[in-house]
Amino acid sequence: MTSNPLPKGDWPELEPGWVWLCGAGPGDPGLLTLHALNALQQADVIVYDALVDQRILDWAKSAAILEYAGKRGGKPSAKQRDISLRLVELAQSGQRVLRLKGGDPFVFGRGGEEGQTLVQHGIPIRIIPGISAGIGGLAYAGIPVTHRDVNQSVTFVTGHDQSGETPSSLNWRAISQGSQVLVIYMGMKHIAPIAAELLAAGRPASEPCAVVTNATTPEQQVLETTLGTLTDDLAASGLTPPAIICVGRSVLMRQTLDWMAMAKGESPRNTDPLGRGRPAEAS
Ligand code: SAH
Repeated sequence: MTSNPLPKGDWPELEPGWVWLCGAGPGDPGLLTLHALNALQQADVIVYDALVDQRILDWAKSAAILEYAGKRGGKPSAKQRDISLRLVELAQSGQRVLRLKGGDPFVFGRGGEEGQTLVQHGIPIRIIPGISAGIGGLAYAGIPVTHRDVNQSVTFVTGHDQSGETPSSLNWRAISQGSQVLVIYMGMKHIAPIAAELLAAGRPASEPCAVVTNATTPEQQVLETTLGTLTDDLAASGLTPPAIICVGRSVLMRQTLDWMAMAKGESPRNTDPLGRGRPAEAS
């Protein structure tokens, strides 16, 4: 990085011995916060996850050491305990440490656990939130996570538990009955049992669903389907993680709000996909 791109301001200093726990957003470097950029330019060591985009790491200062601490389902990866203790060790050796995680560090990101370990070891921390894939990734696909005509609540849920299995502790029936829109992280592997639970809980087979992979990156792909056909369509699509799965009628809004398709010159597919029968501005 040659010049400082931060706007004038009183940006906090990352001091030696501190760890900043920071979200890098879902992929597109433009979705990084200014606090994250400020951190990237000061850190001596950056401990980053698999889902942090390389273009973001390119903004580190040239002398920075980049340490990979990725955890991707199914692959051998660093143990959480080792990552947390590595952060402690780096801070205790007087480094300026940036712990950079995909999305938001506190959304299915174990940021809380890492922060707690650091505090328990007396390490000073700062938390920098990021745009979570379940919100920003859907927005890039043209899906509003809430919409007044669709949902008054949204549930973020993980498709894995600590053992990598479908979270059996989750009450899928309560989840499916409690919220009009579900946003599922890490759901690809166990989509068949998850979809079956939702159907068994009474959600209609015709309910719109979308799968957004590599959201906000140049590789972003979107599958639109329904709950009844989700498992088969997903298998046939060949799509691979990381993916956000959205279940709910808000997916229909993509027919109007697929801004990427419109930017390429396509017309909106349907400007009234919820069938309101009146202009959106009319209440
Ligand atoms: N802290 C992250 C989530 C970490 S869990 C956040 O707030 O976004 C990892 C899961 O997040 C992935 O399995 C996937 O479900 C989702 N995810 C993260 N980045 C994504 C992306 N660019 N596109 C689609 N899903 C993504």
